[in-house]
Amino acid sequence: MEGMMMHRPLLVSTILEYAMNAHRKAGITSVRTEGDTHSYNYPEAGVRIAQLAHALQARGITLGDRVATLAWNGYRHFELYYAISGIGAVCHTINPRLSAEQLIYIVNHAEDRILFLDTTFVPIIAAVKEHLPEDMTYVIMTDRAHMPDTPFPALCYEELLEGQPGQITWPEFDENTACSLCYTSGTTGNPKGALYSHRSTVLHAFTIAISLRHSFGEGRAILPVVPLFHVNAWGLPYAAPLVGASLVMPGPALDGPSLFALMDREKVYSAWGVPTVWMGLLAEIRAQGRKPENFGDVVIGGSAAPKAMIEGFEKMDISVGHAWGMTEMSPVGTHGCLPQWMEALPFEERIAAKAKQGRRVYGVDLKIVDEDGRPQPQDGKAIGELFVRGNAVVSGYFRNEEASAKALDAEGWFGTGDVASIDPDGFLVIQDRAKDLIKSGGEWISSIDLENAAMSLPGIANCAAIGVPHPRWDERPVLVAVASGEARPSLDEIREHISPHFAKWQLPDDVIWVDALPMTATGKVSKLNLRKQLVDYEHPELRETA
Ligand code: ADP
Repeated sequence: MEGMMMHRPLLVSTILEYAMNAHRKAGITSVRTEGDTHSYNYPEAGVRIAQLAHALQARGITLGDRVATLAWNGYRHFELYYAISGIGAVCHTINPRLSAEQLIYIVNHAEDRILFLDTTFVPIIAAVKEHLPEDMTYVIMTDRAHMPDTPFPALCYEELLEGQPGQITWPEFDENTACSLCYTSGTTGNPKGALYSHRSTVLHAFTIAISLRHSFGEGRAILPVVPLFHVNAWGLPYAAPLVGASLVMPGPALDGPSLFALMDREKVYSAWGVPTVWMGLLAEIRAQGRKPENFGDVVIGGSAAPKAMIEGFEKMDISVGHAWGMTEMSPVGTHGCLPQWMEALPFEERIAAKAKQGRRVYGVDLKIVDEDGRPQPQDGKAIGELFVRGNAVVSGYFRNEEASAKALDAEGWFGTGDVASIDPDGFLVIQDRAKDLIKSGGEWISSIDLENAAMSLPGIANCAAIGVPHPRWDERPVLVAVASGEARPSLDEIREHISPHFAKWQLPDDVIWVDALPMTATGKVSKLNLRKQLVDYEHPELRETA
């Protein structure tokens, strides 16, 4: 209609330009693979990003081309994010923890033209190189002095930038142009690509900056432990410059002592990551008897945050934001910042509220449906499969008609594969992944609930509940646990400890002690591999009758 607002495309480059102009003192501090620490502000980042963009264009990279990265969290990775998408190409981040087979599949499927890699990942590429596209250009993300020997021809990142102009007029194009690509780890079948657009990425950045409001603030330092190599580090590389926060990039060392030292030194206020990482940090905090100096906020997502972990942080005045999402959602769907009236509740009630997966962010609609696809009430009781829709939710998968055809329901909602309830205050509770629910005698048991309860026992460092075949009950729950010390609680002690929260038939029938649980490429317990490891396991009753 005449006389309306202007239409300016929501492009990723506008975030960088804004930060360079409005947040000149904020920037990025990185632990480098070279072994030292590097710091610069957003205007300085912008100069190098312009140089990189020119270098990419000089190598013929243009709108729609895919450029891959295989890298830790660091400033060069950040530069790649902005330079690649800034010129309209697609930044394809690759998870180095994928299997060789998956890596080969996705690089060929994406038809990447250039692959940028950290020095540490040279062996990964060396091992699969003959299966990757022949005309691929490899660039090692370091300077000449640190260039490793490579069994394949490779360029040097810093040399690529040298001599390129430090200024650029970012091209304008449709905001629905793709800017980045990330493949789901694909527990079964081939990985599937989620293709993010400039529009979805900018909107997602707005969304998390508004919703996860405890984390953000001008001048704050935020530590993405979540990798830039997977789902855009939950949007932090975009949201932080937008609000004028600085990023502290940890590089490869993600163990508790390394993170503690880095956070202490860089006065990190907010840190984001999966529960497994926080187990390490909490152990270090306990060992030192204090928290990192300025640490006040932690975002936990990717899998359910155990209640004991939430309690551990909150007791030290570190506010926990428990978030839920997935690769297909850019990824944040819900967040656990409490509404004001809940902040005033007694400690126990606040922890219980934070153990839920939280309320939806703006731009994400949620519905739960029964087996026939009928919407269920959001009364905190009804449980159903969770569907979502929104500006930053996929409508299908990159170059995958088969998977795309199955992604949405008849009304255009995306099926998450999670089973959940939603309470009248809007809080989502993820019961389980549909395929991980334990079915006993026709009733469902939430593996997440069992794990959560068991992990509040001091003797259990980590655990997974899975269903094992049972002739009478179909499946029965058993707990696979990693001990935190010498003393292992007995099955009876575990059952007794968690019994207040469960019906008797929901309690696990056995505990299997292991040294470590198999993990997925994104730092979650791999139940698929765990089930494989336990194929020969027999339920105790079967053993007795044998
Ligand atoms: P990512 O790629 O970010 O690891 P995936 O797409 O592989 O995410 O996995 C998303 C799934 O992880 C969700 O569907 C859900 O089952 C699980 N998940 C993520 N966050 C949480 C959470 N806070 N609580 C429980 N499950 C979670």
